[in-house]
Amino acid sequence: MAVKKQVTVRIFHAQARRIDCEHCGQPYSFIEGKGSSGEAEGNVLLSDSEELGRTAFRQLATSLEKTARDPQRGEGRCPHCHQLQGWMVANDRKGNMGCFGISGLILGVIVTVATSWFTDGATWAIVGGLLLTVVLLAGGVAGGAAISEKPGAKPDHVDPKVKTDEQLLAWMELCLSRNQDPLLQWCYDNGQEPHAKAMHFSLGILDLAEEPSGVPEALSTEGRLRALDHMD
Ligand SMILES: [Zn+2]
Repeated sequence: MAVKKQVTVRIFHAQARRIDCEHCGQPYSFIEGKGSSGEAEGNVLLSDSEELGRTAFRQLATSLEKTARDPQRGEGRCPHCHQLQGWMVANDRKGNMGCFGISGLILGVIVTVATSWFTDGATWAIVGGLLLTVVLLAGGVAGGAAISEKPGAKPDHVDPKVKTDEQLLAWMELCLSRNQDPLLQWCYDNGQEPHAKAMHFSLGILDLAEEPSGVPEALSTEGRLRALDHMD
């Protein structure tokens, strides 16, 4: 049997989206910082690590390009009217219901398998376990929905992930004068700590608002994706 070797490439990316608020019509930006990893595997004798690293990087870059152009990712409360966009509320609800529902399902299956093992497959244990699984699944889905974000304003909520246009332009100017990437720095300042081996990459600002913000082309998502295309 051929021995395989595996190379893992990690990227931490920071990207902001700028939108017009669906409630008050004012533009604002919100940041998202995320780590992702890609793997490539090859025969230990035939493949060289550098080539595997490049393959893993290219796969990761392709999936990053797709998420970078997705207009409805991330979350940030409008700094003008303090509300979330409808799709942010829906995404949060969907994510929590799925996550808690699956946890309930897994827990139920574990309990069912364990009790039927201890009771030598007694019918009551299997039926009880399956009923419990259904209850845990439903409870998880309902619990996920209950703790999710609700529509409406939260004026006291301070969200470090959002900036008004004025704050964004001032921030960009400050970071560029210090030779820092404004998007990555925004994530670091929010306390995000990327994986120690991750490569840090700025995916710029995806500007979806009607009026231009004055963000330089080099800091736009399209500009950054072109830079990503030329890397390996
Ligand atoms: Zn608003």
